[in-house]
Formats: sequence, C-alpha cells, structure tokens
Amino acid sequence: MTSPAPSVPLSHLDDLWFQVGGTLCNLTCNHCFISCSPKNDSFGFLTLDDVKKRLLESVGLGVREYYFTGGEPFLNREMVAILVETLKFGPATVLTNATVLRDEWLAELQAAYSKSRYSLEFRVSIDGFSPQTNDPIRGEGTFARAMSGVQKLVQHGFLPIITAARTWSDERELEVVQKFVAMLREAGYARPRLKILPTLQLGAEEQRSSGYHELDRVTPEMLAEYDASLLVCEHSRIVTDRGVHVCPILIESADSLLGQSLAESGVSFPLSHGACFTCYQYGAICSNASSGRSRAKM
Ligand code: SF4
Ligand code: SF4
Repeated sequence: MTSPAPSVPLSHLDDLWFQVGGTLCNLTCNHCFISCSPKNDSFGFLTLDDVKKRLLESVGLGVREYYFTGGEPFLNREMVAILVETLKFGPATVLTNATVLRDEWLAELQAAYSKSRYSLEFRVSIDGFSPQTNDPIRGEGTFARAMSGVQKLVQHGFLPIITAARTWSDERELEVVQKFVAMLREAGYARPRLKILPTLQLGAEEQRSSGYHELDRVTPEMLAEYDASLLVCEHSRIVTDRGVHVCPILIESADSLLGQSLAESGVSFPLSHGACFTCYQYGAICSNASSGRSRAKM
C-alpha cells in the first residue's frame, strides 16, 4: 500500500505570482508544461485592476516579492502599467520569451525602475545557444527574435536572467553552459546571468517525453530530513483569473485551486503530483537563484 502524500504548510506568503498572461502565448514550445499557444485561452489575462486588488490584499500578509508569468506576459496590453504599479509595492520579476518587447515599453519600465526603491528583473527563456539548438524546441526563428529582445533589455540597462530548460545530457552540461555564456557575451551581454532548469513532464512536455511514472512521487520518508523551504509552495501562491492556486506549476490541476482570496489559500498542500517529485529533486525551481543541480528555477 502506498503512503499518503506528505503535505507542506505555507510557512509565510513571501512570493506572490500572477498568471498575468493566462495560457496565451505567441509561441508553441514543444516542452511547455502548460501547453501555452496562440489559441489556448483556458486561462485569461489578468487586468491592471485585478492585480491592483491583489497587491493591496498582499500588503497585510507581508508579501515580499511579485512574479509575473503566462503564457507570454507582454501579450497583455496592460503589462507595462502592471509592472509600474507593482514597483510601488515591492520587487518584481517578469518571465518572458522576449520576442515581443518594444523599446518604448522598456524605456517606460526603466524610468519606473529608476524611481522605485525595488528591483525589476526579467527572466528570458532561451533553450539553446544557437538557432540549431533552440529553434527545434521553441519554433523557427525564435532564437534570433529572443536574442534581439535580450539586446534591447541590455541596451535599456537591464541584466536579464537567461533561463534554459535542460534538454541535453548531464555529460554535456558544462559544454552547453560555456557555449551559452560565450554566445551571450558575443551578443553584447558582458556579464550574462544564466539559470538552467529541469523540464517539468506536464502539458506539451508530457507528449514530447514520457511524462511522470506513477512511482515519481514524494513520500513522507523523503520529506523527513528535507528543507521544505526549497519548494515554491512552501512560501508562494499564484493568482489566475480563476482564483488563487498553490503554485505556478500545477494551475491546470483542479486540486491546485485553493480559494478566491490570498487568506483562503494559506492551507497545507499534499505533494501528490509527479511534478512535486521534480521540485523535490531540484528545489528552488521558481526563484531567481542561478543555476545548479541540487539547489537549482523558470
Ligand atoms: S514555454 Fe513559455 S514561450 Fe514557450 S509556449 Fe510556453 S509560455 Fe510560451
Ligand atoms: S509542483 Fe512543486 S511547487 Fe507545486 S505543489 Fe508540488 S512541490 Fe509544491
């Protein structure tokens, strides 16, 4: 008989995520763990008013940082205004594929960032150091478009964190990282920041790879000596257009929806999903910390 999944309590709501781009994306990457695409409107955009309401709610709960994801957040026409508003409340990080960024948006964001006491981070997903290694995963022409976005960010004074999903073998890790860094320097990003992430075998990636095996689960024994603060769900929640969910990884699972208010979402969550096993193995998948195998983040 298998043991019930161990639950992780929310120790404190440090990080608040927003599924601000819903599941709409201009790309259709074949490893996307929520199968985002130009046609997937299963989750919709959050409006500036939605976000303002949650920011105000978050103050009383002591939230320290805000994260924005999708889909592609910059398809949301209110994204710049949302980030400008958020910088009045705390540090903001936006996860983007960088293919739709405009100079005027970045100029406005740099101006807001310069006036704010808080940081503004961009995390840019690129999955290979060349068109040959990136485009088979993210789509024809996406390497050039994303690198153009990275150059715009650098020109506007930002230092984006480049995130790459590990689709290569362990033996090639060092070589791939070195090639990434060399490519970014050559493109004019003198001190590149790089974060390597494990793939999550959900959504499109479940079709591309094998998905999770039923034995890929976290057991109570595994959690006994484990530092649960490495798990996103221990200190974060995410707001979508349906309510508040446990984490950015599981929004498509019905049990991830914990309530309509941030206060309601402060309950323990059982780590019963295959993806929890990936979080357990790699830790810190969603933070801004740099790459690594055991403490490695999106
Ligand atoms: S991985 Fe990112 S860029 Fe690619 S389809 Fe999913 S949300 Fe869009
Ligand atoms: S997928 Fe990861 S962050 Fe989400 S509930 Fe499971 S362990 Fe927590």
